[in-house]
Parts: sequence; structure tokens; C-alpha cells
Amino acid sequence: MAGCLVMCLAQACLAGGYPDRATGADRRAFQEGLAAAQKMQPEIFPDGIGHIDALLYDAKDLYIYSQNEGYPLPKYGRWKKYTIYRAPHGGLVSERYMAICIGGIEFMPKEIQAVIAEQYFACAPAGSFQSIQRQRGSIYQYREGYLASIIHEYGHQYMEQEPEVLAIVHKMMPLVDAVTEAVSKDSLISETFANWCELQGARRLFPKQYQRMLDTAEEDRKDDRYGHLNGLKIAVKLLDDDAP
Ligand SMILES: [Zn+2]
Repeated sequence: MAGCLVMCLAQACLAGGYPDRATGADRRAFQEGLAAAQKMQPEIFPDGIGHIDALLYDAKDLYIYSQNEGYPLPKYGRWKKYTIYRAPHGGLVSERYMAICIGGIEFMPKEIQAVIAEQYFACAPAGSFQSIQRQRGSIYQYREGYLASIIHEYGHQYMEQEPEVLAIVHKMMPLVDAVTEAVSKDSLISETFANWCELQGARRLFPKQYQRMLDTAEEDRKDDRYGHLNGLKIAVKLLDDDAP
């Protein structure tokens, strides 16, 4: 709590008491997440993830990490093979968005959407993400949770276009079909694959977060419309089956 107060005095804060601008530390955390996904690439993304743009947003700006150097957007810097562009988005970012990584954002300006890669995901800064997740008592309050979420989002994007993942999709289908709760099937398939990626990343790189995910998979929650929890439960089973 004291930490949050100090953070909020030092920076502009929204009413919710979380920092709303991305700092250098937030950009480093985001890059650490991208690096974690790259590390897992041979195992879970064999066809590569370099074509997927990765966006970091805050209350005002978008930071667009792309391996395409030619976007007609203001350049902010470079990181590994990525050019970083920064542009204001001009939208309102709700508290919900300041606590997540997601495959699309409602405040994406059309002119930016038109120039970046079709496959992209976007993340709130680690500072606000973890602060809000901590208020909720979620396992995503930890830095490893933020980093693992980035692997998860790469999973969603990778699955959309890489057909060779169909082998695992084929394997997961009987388990998906067995889910009796009111869950969108497409969403459940995508969540299962993304959680499968996140679990493998966590198992190798973030063992504490891996254990937290396993504990969460034991929980029962009624409201799982998008299949986050059921997807996690199925992914845990798939991973168990793969165990040597
Ligand atoms: Zn997801």
C-alpha cells in the first residue's frame, strides 16, 4: 500500500490509484515478456512470432514493437530486431484495460490499425497491470504473471494463423467437447491453446507462477463465459499427458 502511494505521488494516477503512464521500468518488463516468448519459440512457436506486432499502451500512448521498419509512424527507439514506434491513441483507457493483455483494443485509432501487422496483441504497463491484479487478489499480481500473460497472448495470435498447431487442437477437441458449461467453443479452443503456451512458458521460466496456475486450475468458478478457466483446466490435462 505504501509502495502504491509513493508510486502515485511520483506519477499521474487515475482515480483507481494505479499508475496510468508507462515508465522505463514498464517498457523493460514488456521487453522481458517478449524475450520470454522468444526463448520459448523453438518449443511452442516453431514457425516464429516475429511477424506478430506487440503493443504496449498506457492512458495516452501506444508503443508499437514491430520487426517492420517502414511504418509511417513516429519512431521511438529500437529493441533487438524491433523498431519501437510511439503514437498517441487519443482514446479513453478504462481500468479494465489497464489490468490486461488482449488481442485487440477498443481505443485503437483506425489509421494506426491500417498500418500495423494484422496479427498483434496489446498490453497494459506492468505497473498498472500488477497493481490492479493485486487489488483483485489474482495470481497475475506478480511480475511472472505479467510475463507469462505475454506468452499467452502470443499463443492466441500464433494459433490464428499457424496451421501446424492443429495437431494439438485435434488433441484438445475431445476435452473441449466435454465442457458442459455455457462457453463459446471458438473462445474455449483459443483459450486452451493460449493457456497451454503460457503453462509451458511458466513451467520452464517461472516455476512459482506455474504452481499458481496449477492451483488455479483446481478451482471452480461459475462465470467462465470466455473459457479462461476451462481452457486452463484442459491445458493442464494436455500437459500432463505429454509428461515423460
Ligand atoms: Zn486468453
